[in-house]
Amino acid sequence: MKYVSTRGQAPSLDFEQVLLAGLARDGGLYVPESWPVLTANEIAGLAGRSYVEAAVAVMQPFIGGTLPAEELAAIAQNAYGRFVHPAVTPLVQLDPNLWLLELFHGPTLAFKDLAMQLLGILMDRSLRRMGRRATILAATSGDTGAAAVEAFKGREAIDLFVLFPDGRISPAQRRQMSTSGAANVHTVAVRGTFDDCQSLVKALFNDHAFRDAYALSAVNSINWARIMAQTVYYFTAAVSLGAPYRKVSFCVPTGNFGDIFAGFVAMKMGLPIERLIIATNSNDILTRTVGTGRYEPKPVVATASPSMDIQLSSNFERLLFEAAGRNSDRIRELMTGFATSGSFALEASELAAIRSVFAASRVDEAETAATIASFDRQSHYLADPHTAVGLAAATKLKGNRSVPMIVLATAHPAKFPAAIEAATGRLPVIPERLQAALSGREDYSTIAADPVAVRDFIAARSNLAPANAS
Ligand SMILES: *Cc1c(COP(=O)(O)O)cnc(C)c1O
Repeated sequence: MKYVSTRGQAPSLDFEQVLLAGLARDGGLYVPESWPVLTANEIAGLAGRSYVEAAVAVMQPFIGGTLPAEELAAIAQNAYGRFVHPAVTPLVQLDPNLWLLELFHGPTLAFKDLAMQLLGILMDRSLRRMGRRATILAATSGDTGAAAVEAFKGREAIDLFVLFPDGRISPAQRRQMSTSGAANVHTVAVRGTFDDCQSLVKALFNDHAFRDAYALSAVNSINWARIMAQTVYYFTAAVSLGAPYRKVSFCVPTGNFGDIFAGFVAMKMGLPIERLIIATNSNDILTRTVGTGRYEPKPVVATASPSMDIQLSSNFERLLFEAAGRNSDRIRELMTGFATSGSFALEASELAAIRSVFAASRVDEAETAATIASFDRQSHYLADPHTAVGLAAATKLKGNRSVPMIVLATAHPAKFPAAIEAATGRLPVIPERLQAALSGREDYSTIAADPVAVRDFIAARSNLAPANAS
């Protein structure tokens, strides 16, 4: 499988190269040259298989050539063996036609573990095979950083730098990143928002001399391998509710558009999906875009679902590429316009293509808290604030009641105790795997939202810096 950039001016790469590169050199995002399709029989054949077996079947077409199936199976076993639920991503039924897909049974209690655990092993394996090292730079709204620390700590070929917005993530999220004690993990609080962190990462990636000197690599959802890993649970969930013989809909709490884009990929691969619902919190750029056709960021506001406090939704570019008929000239035009004017408008045909699959809903803070409280009371289910945004959006846009609605439960409530207590009057139970992070000694640095400061910080600490070579 070859991968091409959405902006059409970077070389096409194979899976291993895309895995290590992250962002394309023309500023675009890598996508497969064409979508592999699973037949109805192949999809039906996933029924009753383990998560690891399903993962191999769904991911093999994207990896083919880089990894034999047996080796991929061993890697997937290793990655998903760390999950505490035997189903890895169990479905929980709340109502006759409403389901939750629990994605928080991994080591850091958010869905990011599903892709990151796999990525840690895949990247480490590739680097060692090539005798190389890499510097991973990640912007995080909280959960990506924690998942990356857990996946990359102690891996010799890798230095990990995670940038999080100072004071804008939950203390549990911060502690998961700052208590690893690993020498190759560097946790950085940036005085700014998540969008600032993401812009810093992009600026350093676009500094090609720095990028090459430090072998920069990205594990944000701009990295294709993350999207790929996330398509798996769309298949397992849909198949357990009757796919390919019955359609299902998914409602996805969304920030950077990575997780829900994985649902779109599953659909492109042949999974019969009726609708994909984009659930946003008050940072509603995606809901406004689907409503009006105009993509225009507003200032970020802090909410109870901080992992979605995002206005620059990176992976939306991958959807635009599809909606524009894979025309990379059009994507460059949109992105250039965006860089100069701060917004862009979709053509009617592009908006229609998006609306044929996606619906969107904005859920404000009061609705989020009310949803946590009502599902706690009526269904005895304690949803985290991100999941609650999804539940509220699904309730508003239920649509065809004969089609099962699956809401993605993206985090465990214990990561957001303050919001849970405010909504329900009591604190969530803290699972054992979070206890250690909460009591460990913290170690992180605080710096300005300035690319030069970040560059100097990395240069002073990376094993790839000439002065620090070990
Ligand atoms: C990252 C995250 C999201 C948003 O996922 P995207 O792929 O950025 O859209 C939602 N909920 C939680 C708990 C997250 O950590």
